[in-house]
Amino acid sequence: QLTSKDYMEYIKLVYKKIHENREYITDLDAATGDGDHWANIDSGFGKLNEISESLECLSLFEQFKQIGKTMMSVIGGSSGVLYGSAYLAAAKVLKGKEAIGNEELCGVLTAMLDAIMSRGNAQPGWKTMIDSLHPAVECYKACLAENVPEEEILTRVKQAALDGAENTRGMEAVRGRATYQADKGVGHLDPGAVTMSYQIEILMDYIR
Ligand code: ADP
Ligand code: MG
Ligand code: MG
Repeated sequence: QLTSKDYMEYIKLVYKKIHENREYITDLDAATGDGDHWANIDSGFGKLNEISESLECLSLFEQFKQIGKTMMSVIGGSSGVLYGSAYLAAAKVLKGKEAIGNEELCGVLTAMLDAIMSRGNAQPGWKTMIDSLHPAVECYKACLAENVPEEEILTRVKQAALDGAENTRGMEAVRGRATYQADKGVGHLDPGAVTMSYQIEILMDYIR
């Protein structure tokens, strides 16, 4: 069970992980895009890290709305709008809820996925952040339907997100800047899928 205070602790851990991986993520986006993905996402999580004290006392609904608004205004580039929409959509799932359990978390990730897919007009398999989130959501839903034990769910969802990011290496980009490359980015990991997998990995480890 995650409270709004826990959620900001998690956000701070994400910021730390992203902040430490400047070169790696910048290089990934330099290979397939315009090289700013690290700077974009680091500024967003950096701002959240900075204002975390003012967000941790909010209800989950208000907190997710504020996270979404902050991401939209602070992060330049596609990822700002996409993460902004994701958090605004997830906020609705959490209306009136005081804690996030398995059911809610699966609902939150599903709402985020739907929002990103509709906002970015993109599908799984198109070499984007969706390719880490989508397999994680599918795995989460399957685990809940099959009554998989809690520990095992966390392990499986995390692995699905990491494998999903890794699988972008072989994909051709259909949306986003990698489509401008002659090879459509084949042979390179998608930076947005990698930063998405960091978030899901840290979330699953944090709950455990
Ligand atoms: P920009 O492409 O505007 O420079 P970023 O570098 O911050 O923005 O983010 C790039 C990442 O955003 C890509 O690696 C990809 O994962 C994701 N992305 C780009 N366009 C889309 C889209 N239409 N739908 C989903 N994800 C997308
Ligand atoms: Mg970029
Ligand atoms: Mg850019």
